Amino acid sequence: MLNNDDLIYVKPRTDLVEILRRKGITDRRVLEAIGRVPRHFFVEPALRMYAYEDRPLPIGEGQTISQPFTVAYQTQLLDVKPGMKVLEIGTGSGYQSAVLMELGAKLYTVERIRSLLEETRKRFERLGYRPEFTAHADGYEGLPHFAPFDRIIVTAAAPEIPVNLLRQLTANGKTVIPVGKNTQIMMRIIRQPDNTFVKEVFDRFTFVPMLRGKK
Ligand code: SAH
Repeated sequence: MLNNDDLIYVKPRTDLVEILRRKGITDRRVLEAIGRVPRHFFVEPALRMYAYEDRPLPIGEGQTISQPFTVAYQTQLLDVKPGMKVLEIGTGSGYQSAVLMELGAKLYTVERIRSLLEETRKRFERLGYRPEFTAHADGYEGLPHFAPFDRIIVTAAAPEIPVNLLRQLTANGKTVIPVGKNTQIMMRIIRQPDNTFVKEVFDRFTFVPMLRGKK
């Protein structure tokens, strides 16, 4: 239920969707999902006025909520259908998670920083988002107990493609991951039924690093 406070964000959110469309996002379901997620609840109150600008914002612990364009771009490449099992590495604020759940994903999400994950679990609860599983763990390991996944999305910069993750894909499963040290190339890797992998490369982005271990 929207209250007056939230109503003031409806127009900025509609405008953001239009900006993303002009920047080249074409998938109507992705645009509609972004049009439904209240991004102002994924940032601290002092930053709410910037929540619908197309830029990343700090979420504490030196991390950021991804830029809406980046979220839309990765989500479009991921090609999620309702009911698919999706693994996300790098829960952060939970904004990308919410977009995936709006698309009907059964979401499994992993975050290495406990304090961020705890905040985000409460946020999901308040907003009525129900991920299948949230884990405080090192995403380099994936979630072997829950594998295989139809889709895997990594929202932090991997220095190279983590092979552990690729092993947790279904046949025809897809991974979208930014790969590189200083800046990253967005890659999509598709597992073929014969267990080979096809790699596609897209545009350049800048992400916070994917780090090892938990905190
Ligand atoms: N999807 C998030 C983006 C957050 S930034 C959002 O929409 O807000 C990337 C996140 O990845 C950070 O929270 C960071 O702590 C986390 N991260 C980095 N390395 C990780 C790893 N090995 N395992 C799990 N999470 C990781």
